[in-house]
Amino acid sequence: MDPALLNRMNRSLRVEIIPLGRVDEVAGAVVAANIQEFLGFPTTLASPQPVPEEAHLPGRNQYDAGWILKQLRRGLDPRALRLGVTTRDLALPILTYVFGEALVGGRAAVVSVFRLGTEPGQPRKDLGRLYERLAKVALHETAHALGVPHCRRSGCLMRFSYGLDHLDTLEIAFCPACREEIARRTGALTGINYAGTPEPTDSNPSPVPGRQRPS
Ligand SMILES: [Zn+2]
Ligand SMILES: [Zn+2]
Repeated sequence: MDPALLNRMNRSLRVEIIPLGRVDEVAGAVVAANIQEFLGFPTTLASPQPVPEEAHLPGRNQYDAGWILKQLRRGLDPRALRLGVTTRDLALPILTYVFGEALVGGRAAVVSVFRLGTEPGQPRKDLGRLYERLAKVALHETAHALGVPHCRRSGCLMRFSYGLDHLDTLEIAFCPACREEIARRTGALTGINYAGTPEPTDSNPSPVPGRQRPS
């Protein structure tokens, strides 16, 4: 992959980070820095928005992640992804809780710090660990929002995470296959294909076959 081209492609996409409710500034900055570092996308940090009360799940003191995702999609620029960050406990009607959730390929994701702190019986606050977990979940969900599915390779951030213990075993890294998939999906969204040729359009017919990247 040509690094200069990859860089141009990545810079054509933007991730809008939206704090939902009172989220500490460090959490937003950690998410932004990790997205820039590991996905290569520029980020913007929006001013906080209230957590939509319509997403509240009655009797559970939790918020419906699916409902929040639909809200996040509203008015979304075609070359942007949107990532909500919240301190509220997220769930899906069929799941007791989620660390985060995304519309796969739908360019919207949401993550929560609610369950990323230390477990009961352990020292109360290990903020370093909490932010590391937040970075992992945010990267995982942002890649889903781009359209990247789960991966079975050990250590890859796109593995399905069973809980905090499992999350802690993952490196902050995507495996080579997932990195390729991230580039391919980014190319599809930005119209710059990572093989180095523009996506064919009516006014821009298919590239000369001999110049295409071998697969
Ligand atoms: Zn996932
Ligand atoms: Zn992978």
